[in-house]
Amino acid sequence: MYGYPHICEEIKGFKKVSVIGNTREKRNIFCIELGTGDKCAVFSAAFHGLEYLTATALIEFAKRFSEISEYHSRLRLFVVPMVNPDGVEIAINGIDPKNAYHRDIIKHTGIIDFTKVWQANASGVDINHNFNAGWDSICDSPAPTKYGGEYPESEPETRAIANLLRKTEPELFIAFHSQGKEIYYDFNGLESESAKENAEFVAKRTGYKATVPDGTATFGGAKDYYIQEYHKEAYTVELGMGKNPLPHSALPEMINDVYNIGRNFIDRVF
Ligand SMILES: [Zn+2]
Repeated sequence: MYGYPHICEEIKGFKKVSVIGNTREKRNIFCIELGTGDKCAVFSAAFHGLEYLTATALIEFAKRFSEISEYHSRLRLFVVPMVNPDGVEIAINGIDPKNAYHRDIIKHTGIIDFTKVWQANASGVDINHNFNAGWDSICDSPAPTKYGGEYPESEPETRAIANLLRKTEPELFIAFHSQGKEIYYDFNGLESESAKENAEFVAKRTGYKATVPDGTATFGGAKDYYIQEYHKEAYTVELGMGKNPLPHSALPEMINDVYNIGRNFIDRVF
């Protein structure tokens, strides 16, 4: 039901699928394309290892969306359900001591139980701090969370998303994370004029809260990069409530939330 093998299986049910990047551990970053409209949207999930349920929830959204034909001429939707499959597999299965690189991570971080803490990719870089927007290394070496890498877009996962955004220039970009039931809509005041209003509208209809990040949440994220470069609508949506990894029992509500949030944003923007 969860993790990279689940995504590999589910992806077979879609007609148009491409691979937009390969990770350090040779996993595919899949992108599903739905609809034929002139304008684009990009939905993405599982930037962080512990947040793997967001990938399952987004795949379910893609399945339901593909059946609603009224949308298909209105927009082209690109869905990247699992941006960071290596991090997800580390968070689910722990680290593989046979892997020399993993042994190195153990040495660097001193972590024993990776399934409780791992948010980064297999190189110990936090993908959502590796984009070129107020980029700054919050810590200076590979870590389970918040290390921004040696330079912006140093990681294949970051480049896959940044390249997709540059190629499609979507009117709407959403990055799904967990947790907190919040919708972040700004980056240093550079967001489009309608961003706050739309975030508040969707939040009100879905029981979420539209808000602005404080502290480290604002550095080097995917939506930050897109807002900074294109001044279009980009949101981070924090799904669910609790402590990551959220229990599997949180999934039905998460699926429902992705669907309602996704559709409401699409109806506002397109
Ligand atoms: Zn996250």
